[in-house]
Amino acid sequence: MIKQHFDYLVLGLGGVGSAALYQLARRGLHVAGIDRFPIAHDRGSSHGHTRLIRQSYFEHPSYVPLVQRSFELWKQVGADHGRDLYYETGILEAGPVDGELVPGVLASAAEHGLELEQLTADEASQRWPQFSFQDDHTVIYEQRAGFLLVEQCVSAHVELAQWNGAEVFCDQSIDRIESKDDAVHVLTSRGEFTADRVVVASGAWAGELLPELSDKIVVLRKPLHWFEADVNRYSRKSGCPCFLFETEAGCFYGFPSSDWRGLKVAQHTGGAEVDDPLLLDRDLDVQEREQVLEFLSCHLPGVTDRATDYGVCMYAMSPDSHFMIDTSKDDSRIIYAAGLSGHGFKFTAALGEVLADMATGTDSSFDLALFKRSRFDT
Ligand SMILES: Cc1cc2nc3c(=O)[nH]c(=O)nc-3n(C[C@H](O)[C@H](O)[C@H](O)COP(=O)(O)OP(=O)(O)OC[C@H]3O[C@@H](n4cnc5c(N)ncnc54)[C@H](O)[C@@H]3O)c2cc1C
Repeated sequence: MIKQHFDYLVLGLGGVGSAALYQLARRGLHVAGIDRFPIAHDRGSSHGHTRLIRQSYFEHPSYVPLVQRSFELWKQVGADHGRDLYYETGILEAGPVDGELVPGVLASAAEHGLELEQLTADEASQRWPQFSFQDDHTVIYEQRAGFLLVEQCVSAHVELAQWNGAEVFCDQSIDRIESKDDAVHVLTSRGEFTADRVVVASGAWAGELLPELSDKIVVLRKPLHWFEADVNRYSRKSGCPCFLFETEAGCFYGFPSSDWRGLKVAQHTGGAEVDDPLLLDRDLDVQEREQVLEFLSCHLPGVTDRATDYGVCMYAMSPDSHFMIDTSKDDSRIIYAAGLSGHGFKFTAALGEVLADMATGTDSSFDLALFKRSRFDT
């Protein structure tokens, strides 16, 4: 049985944990990270090639400073590692003027003075003829948006952390965390670790490691679909933007073709509840694929129905779909980010910095009030 002490331990090395590990290591701290799967694996929530990053955040204006910091950090992490992580394609967002998406985007842009273009369906159809917009929809185009290469981001963070002295253990599952006077103890399938501070970033498994979150997280199964598409109209190279549509059938989003698989599309709304994330059903559900094909035929009519790939991922939903970033109510040495609710990856670079600040007692410049777990106490 190994027993090792680190000043800081990061539990879970997916999107959030990899960033926290790097942010602690780059400060010269004695830190290690633990995961049960290899880095950039496909068993959690941070895989599937791409993730949207967008600035005028319809979910709430409080996210905007965090995403702006993430834009800076993704650029810096890519440069430090020597690899491109972010591709700016712009994003088209379309929906009813009294829906959730369009008013939310406009509110965030107004509060933070962000540049957007607002178009009618007709104007947008002329400019992007490969899309088809509903007549009564408002269309917004934001240039400062695009996609991140998700697995590349996770591995870049971990490798940079290692280059800065962090240790990585991705051969063991964490069984439990015990608070003791001398340190926080972390018991794993291979031994025991102790640390002065622990950052928990265990995604869909947050409630298993932190019982105080067990009734706050609902895990949803989320499929991803790729279809063959004309590279002259639907590829990044041809200038096709990312897209997010609020429709009567749900909210759908996607990415222009950027590899052999063609265009990627998924539904943001919906999803079946997952009892045990380790036993996630990975089989193709034909009905789910029909729903995205229906969306494509209405709004991206030139994309074919020839499927090239398929994957399954998980959303870890909080009760109000906003993040939970806090210290444990039982032990202030334990810090966590959980319940990223299917929209967290773009922020992980900044969340790593926020968690490292919290763990080291450094003041954060961000207003994190929206993300306190205590909002659910009343
Ligand atoms: C299909 C899909 C599309 C998405 N699209 C977007 C998007 O376009 N833009 C965006 O910003 N966000 C998007 N998201 C959300 C985003 O990807 C997630 O919010 C984010 O990746 C979550 O990161 P995480 O670190 O919390 O979880 P994970 O990346 O899953 O990391 C958790 C890690 O903890 C480890 N772990 C957990 N428990 C244990 C244990 N007991 N022992 C050892 N290891 C453990 C796991 O193995 C895993 O590596 C999407 C998510 C999905 C599923």
